[in-house]
Amino acid sequence: MIKFLDLQKITQKYSDEIHEAVSRVINSGWYLQGKESEKFEMNYAQYIGTKYTIGCANGLDALIWILRAYIEMGVMQLGDEVIVPANTYIASILAITENGLKPVLIEPSIETYQIDDTKIEAAITERTKAVLIVHLYGQCAYTEKIGELCRRYNLKLVEDNAQAHGCKFQGRKTGSLGDAAGHSFYPGKNLGAFGDAGAVTTNDEELAKTVRAIANYGSQKKYVFKYCGRNSRLDEIQAAVLDVKLKHLDEDVAIRKEVARYYIEHMTNPNIITPMVTDWDAHVFHIFTVRTQRRDSLQQYLAENGVQTIIHYPIPPHKQECYKEWNNLSFPITEQIHNEELSLPMSPVLTEEDIIGVVDLVNQWEY
Ligand SMILES: *Cc1c(COP(=O)(O)O)cnc(C)c1O
Repeated sequence: MIKFLDLQKITQKYSDEIHEAVSRVINSGWYLQGKESEKFEMNYAQYIGTKYTIGCANGLDALIWILRAYIEMGVMQLGDEVIVPANTYIASILAITENGLKPVLIEPSIETYQIDDTKIEAAITERTKAVLIVHLYGQCAYTEKIGELCRRYNLKLVEDNAQAHGCKFQGRKTGSLGDAAGHSFYPGKNLGAFGDAGAVTTNDEELAKTVRAIANYGSQKKYVFKYCGRNSRLDEIQAAVLDVKLKHLDEDVAIRKEVARYYIEHMTNPNIITPMVTDWDAHVFHIFTVRTQRRDSLQQYLAENGVQTIIHYPIPPHKQECYKEWNNLSFPITEQIHNEELSLPMSPVLTEEDIIGVVDLVNQWEY
């Protein structure tokens, strides 16, 4: 069987280095807020190209803490609006509602699946305080136009970089393009830990300090509490694992791109739409998407032939039970993507035989 993502094989690739790092932490007797997270935070900030990285418990928290910090800093208040793509993973939207802010959903482009920058300006009101862009599937969502709108309307630009470690816009890494970014190191992400982990990156010193405090009980000084914070810290073992994997990230991303290039060049079935790539630096292929109107039948056919696939995502946020108030809203492009999208196996450990096998099967599929 060709697995969608073989985490065991990915770990094996760096097994010696990882075991060495984990043993070092175990033997040190120091498991939180120590040298390992300090080192990883420094290296990750350097990699992304920001002054600060603040490790935290997971990617959802990273996004929640950014918006919470803006509220504590007086930049936004309860009920303010945050513009966000309608077709994102639920976490981007949860981070907004969790803070008592209001998500304003914007349709994506049917070609790139990223937020449609021509639809943002009309959605800006007096209460709009931020645009949360999501580099969905690993493709850069930032555009000059989005940067310009945020400057003109004095909006914070927040990036959800959970799927896009290593992605670039004109030489600059995603995660450094806006005012702040949330990153996830969930095991299946391009840079994955051995459990939950996340981080915030920013150049804003006040934001960095506030986020760090909030994620540590609201404390900047031991036993002194400035905010009603939470416990959301990156632990030393995860930091040590991430630091090892960060060294190999670019090499892994390069392999993902080779796989994607092969898929795109060789998938000739006219009933399949492969991803649109205008700039190979601006896509790190966390997910390799194809689209077809008979998605479920393609998925079943591939499964019968030993290829594991996943749908990202089967139900859009506005159709979820947790957001009942939006259930009768209509976002046709978002809904179309959710009905037609299928994610093919993609990882840095696929063999040449796997890749050729997937392409042959897709090409032989009878629509
Ligand atoms: C994975 C993901 C998150 C959340 O990350 P966790 O570490 O799982 O909390 C947020 N946004 C997007 C787009 C994601 O894919």
